[in-house]
Amino acid sequence: MTITRFAPSPTGRLHVGNIRTALHNWMLAQKSGGEFILRIDDTDAARSKEEYVEAIRTDLAWLGIEANREERQSKRLDKYEAAFVALRDAGRIYPAYETQQELELKRKVLLGRGLPPIYDRGALELTDDERAAKEAEGIQPHWRFKLDHDEPIVWEDGVRGTAKFDPRLLSDPVIRRADGSWLYMLPSTVDDVDMAVAQVLRGEDHVSNTAVQIQMFTAMGAPVPAFAHEALLVGKEGKLSKRLGSLGCDTFREKGIEPEAILALLSRLGTSLPVEPITDRSILLDTFDLSTFGRAPARFDDADLDRINTAIVHAMPFDAVKDRLPEGIDEAGWHAVQPNIETVGETAEWWRLVTGPIEQPEFTDEDKAYLSEAAGTLTWSDDPWGALTSALKESTGRKGKTLFLPLRQALTGMNHGPDMGELLPLIGEAEAKARLERASA
Ligand code: GLU
Repeated sequence: MTITRFAPSPTGRLHVGNIRTALHNWMLAQKSGGEFILRIDDTDAARSKEEYVEAIRTDLAWLGIEANREERQSKRLDKYEAAFVALRDAGRIYPAYETQQELELKRKVLLGRGLPPIYDRGALELTDDERAAKEAEGIQPHWRFKLDHDEPIVWEDGVRGTAKFDPRLLSDPVIRRADGSWLYMLPSTVDDVDMAVAQVLRGEDHVSNTAVQIQMFTAMGAPVPAFAHEALLVGKEGKLSKRLGSLGCDTFREKGIEPEAILALLSRLGTSLPVEPITDRSILLDTFDLSTFGRAPARFDDADLDRINTAIVHAMPFDAVKDRLPEGIDEAGWHAVQPNIETVGETAEWWRLVTGPIEQPEFTDEDKAYLSEAAGTLTWSDDPWGALTSALKESTGRKGKTLFLPLRQALTGMNHGPDMGELLPLIGEAEAKARLERASA
């Protein structure tokens, strides 16, 4: 039973990359009969907004990615305080007094000498008197976590294989600002410990955070969860794209993309498994496996999503879609229209051909005569279209386009559209006759 979490910061809407991370964590939990936690990382009070928390919930619900429970970092500040005090008392957290400008200068000097810009631990050199003097001047410290330099940090990454970091090449991370507010690193670790998160799956932009956090777990005497870092999502040109960063559920919904299409694509994109229009979640879950994930960036292409969406729409049973269809449409109507649409929303455009009113084109005198004959020929049976067209073929000698097109135009006002054999019974005898008569007048 694996507990996983998705931990968005409510500083904006979810984008396709976040959705993918949420989905994969949900899938890992589902597969093991575990729990999926939605953790709102809202320690940044200035940038976090309640409207985004709401939007995150709405988007996940629309996608059918239900969390077993929700946690909020802003309600857990006392836990972070307690962990902070314990780690500070154990000598693993220390105060630092450098200003931004001083730190920037240090960085520049190191970079200028061709050295990595690692924090020099200047604050650890301060004597008690020097610290007291700073505080007397009213300078509040920020706080850093002191990395253990003794051993390399190593973990078996679920996607990347063995990962290894030399802690001496990392800066002691700032974990708390001078105003007492928290940076991401420590609260996240405290939460993962308290909530018994067993598997942390996130983007590869977090790899170096993992190195630091592994030391935090150990410093807290807690077991280190399994970590896995997915390659990032890139645009179809293969670059990190700004557009992907703003592409989210609103856009998908507006375009008529089904949540199932998003799930089918995102559960397999970047893996060695084929991306297919699979709507049965149990199949997606059964085949979901971190070992199938590649290390190369996963390419997201709208065209793939559209293609999967269309395939899913074409296979949708009436019962699954009936509440979203235009009034009056029945199963036969759905089946007539279904092959002609790419999104469920397009059903209305085609259903209008049945309900009318329709706008017919101007016909030539010859076609008018033909349509008048059609009106007289129309009889009702199981297959009125088959009967009508074979009778007209026989009596007029017309065939192909000249046989069919004027009829379609008169009956629907369109040059193309759903199969007439399915459409005509839905239009009904009286209305069909009236349309043919109107066209021939
Ligand atoms: N709030 C962090 C983020 O959105 C969470 C990272 C994590 O999964 O630990 O990047």
